[in-house]
Amino acid sequence: MFLTRAATLSALMIVAAFSQAPKPNHDLGFEDTPMLPGLPYHVHDDRRPHPRVVTPGAEPGGAPSDAIVLFDGKDLSAWTSHHSDITRGGTSGASEWKLGDGYMEVVPHTGDIATKEKFGDCQLHVEWSEPTDVVGTSQSRGNSGVILQGRYEVQVLDPWDNPTYADGQAGALYGQWPPLVNPARKPGEWQVYDIVFEAPKFEGEKLVKPAYITVFMNGVLLHNRKESLGPMVYRQVAHYSPQPAEDVLVLQNHNSKVRFRNIWIRRLQGYDQPEK
Ligand code: MG
Repeated sequence: MFLTRAATLSALMIVAAFSQAPKPNHDLGFEDTPMLPGLPYHVHDDRRPHPRVVTPGAEPGGAPSDAIVLFDGKDLSAWTSHHSDITRGGTSGASEWKLGDGYMEVVPHTGDIATKEKFGDCQLHVEWSEPTDVVGTSQSRGNSGVILQGRYEVQVLDPWDNPTYADGQAGALYGQWPPLVNPARKPGEWQVYDIVFEAPKFEGEKLVKPAYITVFMNGVLLHNRKESLGPMVYRQVAHYSPQPAEDVLVLQNHNSKVRFRNIWIRRLQGYDQPEK
């Protein structure tokens, strides 16, 4: 009986000792796991910084909380008129494009429009629709463009039964890369671009990283981090020249009454920097 009591007491003491020892808390991660290659963190490291919280848009395609809203359908105050030879150069005065009920529309012969703000690496959401009055063929049917940094054009064109050269059809990186597929909607329906743009990087005159462009159209992948050959040109091979790290976003006026709505952008600061 005595031995049994002693044994029971010992067992209770052991249990008590274990219960008082600091227990590793693995709820939030580990420090006894292998190191991740090239990183100062273990697998599941509890010290690894957590991404900040972003509130997503209320509906699919809605602007998340850290987006800069460039056009919400109500005013054109984020834009200026952009009279230039499509790329580089001067902006002047207010946009002359038409403001409709929840959309803006190209007014032919009034020039491109550009954002007042300049951007580098970014995520961009743009919705556009083609005129229901279908006129012209090929490049003259509903031509416009989303031109990142005023240089890198994602083509806007009527994608519905509109034969043209492949590297100039809707969703093409103009003059360089046709889209992988053509997820077209009809004229008058809203088409959606979601774009991730990695700006080119220069050290002095030297290009050290080209631009990379990812594009979804209507939720379908068109370009997966495609390397750009350089700023858009017509009937030539693109090439890079030194440029600012940030520059304006341009919407092209090709004299077709294309409409735009719901335009927002997120800066992707340090996008190509390794995690520390
Ligand atoms: Mg165009």
